[in-house]
Amino acid sequence: MIRIAICGLHIESSTFTPYMSTAADFTQRRGQTLLERYPWITESPIPGIDHVPRAIAGEEWDVPVKRPWNRGVEWVPILHCSALPGGRVERLTYEKWRVEICDGLAKAGHLDGIFFDIHGAMSVPGYDDVEGDLINAIRDVVGPEPMVSASMDLHGNVSEKLFAGCDLLTCYRMAPHEDAWVSRERAARTLCERLRSGKGKPIKAMVTVPILLPGEKTSTRLEPAASLYGMVPEVAARDGVTDVGVWIGFAWADQPRCTAAVVGFGDDENSVRDGVREIAQFFWKVRHEFAFVAPTDGIEEAVDKAVVSSRRPFIISDSGDNPGAGGADDVTIALSVLLAHPEITGGDLSAIYASIYDPEAVKLADEAGVGGVIEADLGGHVDTRMPGPVHLSAQVRCLVDDPGGLRTAVLGVGGLSIIVTTRRNQYTTLEQFERVQLDPRTTDIVVVKIGYLEPDLYSLAADWIMALTPGGVDQDLMRLGYNHLRRPIFPFDEDMQDPDFTGITG
Ligand SMILES: [Zn+2]
Repeated sequence: MIRIAICGLHIESSTFTPYMSTAADFTQRRGQTLLERYPWITESPIPGIDHVPRAIAGEEWDVPVKRPWNRGVEWVPILHCSALPGGRVERLTYEKWRVEICDGLAKAGHLDGIFFDIHGAMSVPGYDDVEGDLINAIRDVVGPEPMVSASMDLHGNVSEKLFAGCDLLTCYRMAPHEDAWVSRERAARTLCERLRSGKGKPIKAMVTVPILLPGEKTSTRLEPAASLYGMVPEVAARDGVTDVGVWIGFAWADQPRCTAAVVGFGDDENSVRDGVREIAQFFWKVRHEFAFVAPTDGIEEAVDKAVVSSRRPFIISDSGDNPGAGGADDVTIALSVLLAHPEITGGDLSAIYASIYDPEAVKLADEAGVGGVIEADLGGHVDTRMPGPVHLSAQVRCLVDDPGGLRTAVLGVGGLSIIVTTRRNQYTTLEQFERVQLDPRTTDIVVVKIGYLEPDLYSLAADWIMALTPGGVDQDLMRLGYNHLRRPIFPFDEDMQDPDFTGITG
């Protein structure tokens, strides 16, 4: 019997947004609930497997529901907490969970391995490398022996500390992350296979690539990221290489660890090092070719274009306040622009604004009931560096309980329907819109707080502009003002010399 503990904290948090994430923002899993998170333990199919284009992520996906590699493994649940991207996490919350993870591991008895299920971009005041701190705390308890396999988001960061503390590291190969569960399962499977092989710990190599780009310039749907990630399965299939991953890194934290990286592991040092270096060199060579995934514009120009367009629905990403990357979800700039258009407020055009976080406004809507009219100062309460609340008079069009019992309201002003939430939320699927009785397919203009479009919206959009709105996850990195990045780094230091691709091994 192999014994593997499961633990991890999963959030990406912007240090540029004033929103402070608390324990209430997280789903906390312990015991049986934690085990039920993983399809290989519950013997369920991998979620999302049907629509993952197999050519890109290069995985074998005809995974049987009963996985032979999972036989004879005892999974030991410790603690896993996950949240929608947000602002920094309260220090005491992090430290309390770190203690719980370390205590849990100390009491777990003999462990052969640890499945470390993290995002890789958690920010906590007073720490500039949270996952590095956590792995060090874990190693202090379990010692150097247990094999640690980290599963990460490609927007996480691999610091030298994290690299040193883990034995196997992998990350998603697709953005949007349609292969998230394929990747987690790969991390767990590789760990089991490695432990069973009796070969001991693999050789690993890392090259830090001094590039920091927003995710919206690095979607794997488009070049050059498609070719960059296209190299991954090819290198991972080489003799002597077990796995290799490319991390884009997290652009909205001001920390020295925020940068791209390539990490691989296997049994042949030369093969692993060569593979990692080749990918890193290609990444560097194509650095000037990364461009936004959609036409970009200012929000006023974007709405003007959408109003006169004949292409419906016309989607606009309100990208600077994208809660899916850590935005406050209550910046009102795009909402004000929509309200300034009489074609929309007069009802000639239909529009959806998805969404804005404002529990007080939802309370007012609840008191008025569906059909009632409320006066509200909407949004602008969290990210107070931005223009303040928008005062409006609106009709309550819908009131529903979202999963988890959270109340959501739809407020109407002429042709505009504004989704107002009691928890930061991101509208990515048709089902979410249907729940609040809205249909983006038959709406003229849809503004979403999102960067690149997730599959549902991507396929229904007749046209799409990514508005470069200000906010905590501003896509224009030059406007953010970093002080702690490791320099030089592209594109901040345009004329820097070619970096050294020797990297480190362990
Ligand atoms: Zn990501």
